[in-house]
Amino acid sequence: MILGSTGSIGTQALDVIRSHRDEFQVVALSAGSNQELLGRQASEFGVAPERARCAGEDPRILEEFASLDDVDVVLNAVVGFAGLPATVATLRAGKRLALANKESLIAGGPVVAKVRDSGGGEIVPVDSEHSAVYQCLRSGTTSEVSKIVLTASGGPFRGRSREDLAGVTITEALNHPTWSMGPKITIDSSTLINKGLEVIEAHELFGVSYDQIEVVVHPQSIIHSMVEFQDGATIAQLSMPDMRLPIGLALGAPERLDQAFGSLDWASLSELTFMEPDRDAFPALDLAYAAGRAGGSAPATLSGANEVAVEAFLNARIPWISITDIVAEVLNLGTGNISEVEDVLEADRVARERVERVLQNSF
Ligand code: MG
Repeated sequence: MILGSTGSIGTQALDVIRSHRDEFQVVALSAGSNQELLGRQASEFGVAPERARCAGEDPRILEEFASLDDVDVVLNAVVGFAGLPATVATLRAGKRLALANKESLIAGGPVVAKVRDSGGGEIVPVDSEHSAVYQCLRSGTTSEVSKIVLTASGGPFRGRSREDLAGVTITEALNHPTWSMGPKITIDSSTLINKGLEVIEAHELFGVSYDQIEVVVHPQSIIHSMVEFQDGATIAQLSMPDMRLPIGLALGAPERLDQAFGSLDWASLSELTFMEPDRDAFPALDLAYAAGRAGGSAPATLSGANEVAVEAFLNARIPWISITDIVAEVLNLGTGNISEVEDVLEADRVARERVERVLQNSF
């Protein structure tokens, strides 16, 4: 089942399934609001009309679909925090969650951990970096890990100073150099908050401490992340920047797809380079580390505030540089604890309200 089937990840997942029709069967689809494309997908993949629905009209269908008896794997590719109920419902039902919706894991960390431990479900990450780590971890045990190294392309603004970034446009921010992704995540990757959110995601998924997670800029986006083990061996996962690989693995793991969506051409791949992220030009990275270390509702606040700030930028209400400033301002107002889904919802609601207040007062 695919939640968010008309988005970037959803359509690529259907592409994977289209070429592996005897391995996977689609039994339900949900979209945000694109009824027309959803209808075409449903008829192509033989999904009953009552099982192809727009969550924009009724968000409860996400949970309902996640609990269907004939569903083995739920691909959660909903954009943003709205994916949380489906994440919880899938794990509670003891199913595999192919997780592309990182916000639900980040905001709801303590809640998701609880239902994952008690419900018998498992999370297989779709995010390319975490899929890479998941693959690298096959080389050793979690207790042998000395650190996880997440790679970052650096986004469209790599190499630019903070002053230089004051006037960047929406079009520039949407122009990612190596990955083709949806608008929210593309903007997140231009501020580097995406990498910060992925640091929190790695902490939640693999149970490693924040001190053991490092970020390195790797502009070619060929190494998708690495794991260094205690004997000094570093295992890296390399492939073309194509989301269909991690999607296919999340659907079929531990088995791999029998087909590559583009393999590496070593003759034309002249160099792989690495550099430190510029933490002054892209303060969102350290902001995310701080929120992750603070725990409780801080990651939910970070993620919720960021969603609203990104939307404000995409609607031309604020300059790019203010996205991170606003998130920092909202985090500074303080955060609390989380033990139930309601606490996560409340933290998210408060964060959004605070951003709106900042927007009204300062812009
Ligand atoms: Mg990623």
